[in-house]
Amino acid sequence: MIENINWGELPFGYMKTNYNVRCYYKNGKWGALEISSSEYINIHMAATSLHYGQEAFEGMKAFKGKDGKVRLFRWEENAKRMRKSAVGIRMAEVPNELFIDAVKKVIELNSEFVPPYGSGASLYLRPLLIGSGPQVGVKPANEYLFMIFVSPVGPYFKEGFKPVDMMITRDFDRAAPLGTGSIKVGGNYAASLNTLHEAHEKGFASAIFLDAKEKKYIDECGPANFFGIKNNTYITPKSDSILPSITNMSLLTIAEDIGLKTERRQVEAKELETFEEAGACGTAAVISPINSIIDASIGKTYTYSKDGKPGPISTKLYETLQGIQTGDIEDKFGWVELI
Ligand SMILES: *Cc1c(COP(=O)(O)O)cnc(C)c1O
Repeated sequence: MIENINWGELPFGYMKTNYNVRCYYKNGKWGALEISSSEYINIHMAATSLHYGQEAFEGMKAFKGKDGKVRLFRWEENAKRMRKSAVGIRMAEVPNELFIDAVKKVIELNSEFVPPYGSGASLYLRPLLIGSGPQVGVKPANEYLFMIFVSPVGPYFKEGFKPVDMMITRDFDRAAPLGTGSIKVGGNYAASLNTLHEAHEKGFASAIFLDAKEKKYIDECGPANFFGIKNNTYITPKSDSILPSITNMSLLTIAEDIGLKTERRQVEAKELETFEEAGACGTAAVISPINSIIDASIGKTYTYSKDGKPGPISTKLYETLQGIQTGDIEDKFGWVELI
């Protein structure tokens, strides 16, 4: 029951809501948007998503502002990225109009689940595109399902905006240099699960992957991009196997706007020693400031936070981006759409 939701205590997890929306691609075209109240989907057991990983997803959030209006952040970037993912694994592409119709419809149908302003919570949207048609040989499906479900979520880390510990893994790779690391597909996540499990078991919030070829440069932090700050400069890795984060792209713009220099370039693991602040960024947490990074195989620990507090630049970036998303700060970049 909606009355029983304690908005301030929500976990970052799944909660059943009223409806989800679905659209099927058959005979070379998309059908009409359908509304469903079922949490289950009925697909062929030989669907390519189940066997060959023909699956891509997105993650985005809707926020309620002080004015009671619901705000969406840079949805066109999510739509564009989902098309890039579709092309990357030969799936039918979801047109912009269908994407935004589905987003608006699913929010409207679940409007009472958009958490109130000031609760720190938001409505998480999970668009999903899967090969639903049967295939036994290795071939793309002829049929696809695009759907979006939503869930009200609290902050990604229960502790809130507080520095976390991370570890570098040298035992596993998330994505190959010319593989699928730059598109948002489930296969990359499957490849990261053992490492993330190990990190959590050892008490780390996440694991940092290095480039698969040379094991020399930072790629990203599990499901989030990495940035470091030094000499008034925001530095984030450039690599063909990193997922282009919309949060990171936005932080680069904000960083320049508040007078920082920015660099997108290869970042050697040993450069970690020189950063004054470091963080991970993505839709789920916006910024997770990093307290320490342990590179056990070379016996190194890098520490960034002082007295367990996030650094001043990470804090400013976080507050600015979150302020724009909730409508507290003027949206001078035109990132927010009221719906
Ligand atoms: C989704 C994702 C991110 C974060 O992207 P945002 O657009 O900022 O949410 C970072 N890394 C990986 C691997 C991802 O899948």
